[in-house]
Amino acid sequence: MKIEKISSTPELKKNILHTKLDLKNKTLVTIKRKGKMLDFIFDDGSHLLSHLGMTGTWLVGEKIHSTKHTHLTLQSQNITLAYDDPRRFGHMYYYSESEATEKLDELGLDLADPDFNLEYLTKSLKRYPERALKVTLLDQKMFAGSGNYIANEICARAGIRPTRKCKKIKEEEFQKILKAIQDVLGPALASGGTTFQGGYRDTSGEKGQGVQHLVVFYQKICQLCKKTEVKKIILAQRGTYYCPSCQK
Ligand SMILES: [Zn+2]
Repeated sequence: MKIEKISSTPELKKNILHTKLDLKNKTLVTIKRKGKMLDFIFDDGSHLLSHLGMTGTWLVGEKIHSTKHTHLTLQSQNITLAYDDPRRFGHMYYYSESEATEKLDELGLDLADPDFNLEYLTKSLKRYPERALKVTLLDQKMFAGSGNYIANEICARAGIRPTRKCKKIKEEEFQKILKAIQDVLGPALASGGTTFQGGYRDTSGEKGQGVQHLVVFYQKICQLCKKTEVKKIILAQRGTYYCPSCQK
């Protein structure tokens, strides 16, 4: 699509966009995704990187009904792309090819990447031995696309407390964590609960459509053992949920 019209809110430049935007008459060639970063690639080699934050969503359609939260609208003759972000936690950068490559290389593998395997997982978790498991699972430099509810759910399904230090994870538990990641992502990806299409909701307590699969996050009773009350703590400033019976 060739960008013919661009409109934005003052908030875009104040809070979201960190570089100068120059897209007029450029043609969008493709959109790629790495974790929560979308990469819009244009015909002159420039990139618009869009990190969705917690509430960012891109809408695509012939015509888009914009709201006060629609911070950027890109229009071509027959298609419109609009960035909607009620809480403005998203970030955007307009970069040259080399700047974009550098920025994207800082991000780790996407949890859903086919190359995300046991070896990568083990190596990443061993990198900071003193850190709590859940804190590392939230580190986008290793686990791109992870988020608070995903990290809580991974710990639960792996049977490990979120606070357990990485150096205390036993060899046989790495496989359990990998399996847990696949279990958590499977239904979430299928129902759009964590992806670009579905946006990502958690701190506000709004629940994505993947909610029926949650076992501890925002649950009163653990949905694995169906009897123990879920404990909530704050770990590295994030709401953290675990089952004292199922997680050791
Ligand atoms: Zn339980």
